[in-house]
Amino acid sequence: TVGMVCLDTQGHMTAATSTSGLFMKHAGRVGDSPVLGAGFYVDSQVGGASATGFGEDVMKGCVSYEIVRLMKEGMHPQKACDQAVQTFDRELRRRRGKAGDMSLIAMNQKGEWGVSTNIDNFSFVVAGEKQKPTVYLAKKD
Ligand code: ASP
Repeated sequence: TVGMVCLDTQGHMTAATSTSGLFMKHAGRVGDSPVLGAGFYVDSQVGGASATGFGEDVMKGCVSYEIVRLMKEGMHPQKACDQAVQTFDRELRRRRGKAGDMSLIAMNQKGEWGVSTNIDNFSFVVAGEKQKPTVYLAKKD
């Protein structure tokens, strides 16, 4: 999956998510990536988010929308991503004893960003006018 959230110099924001889907997926399966609110969501006045992982779980939580909703309430993108991963991971484990993989990125209107994951290692890149592309590694709590 390739997902991104962008902010231009005029304050416009975009979010996008692209994927080949899950390995051995059923023919015709539509994952979360092209679904607004699940695989991606953006509101230029607030921020945007993109998700990767087990699409069926990401869709159930409308996870990208949830992150933007939390940022709209004033939450920092890092906290919003952490809260979304923790909430859905906990909920899925309570309901069926396990949770699918989930990795989330987000950025707000100020260019502040956040990343959270429930897998061992999730790599991502941050780039900007004043920051050359830099690779980071996120780890689960
Ligand atoms: N989320 C994608 C899907 O379920 C897979 C992925 O992120 O790699 O189709």
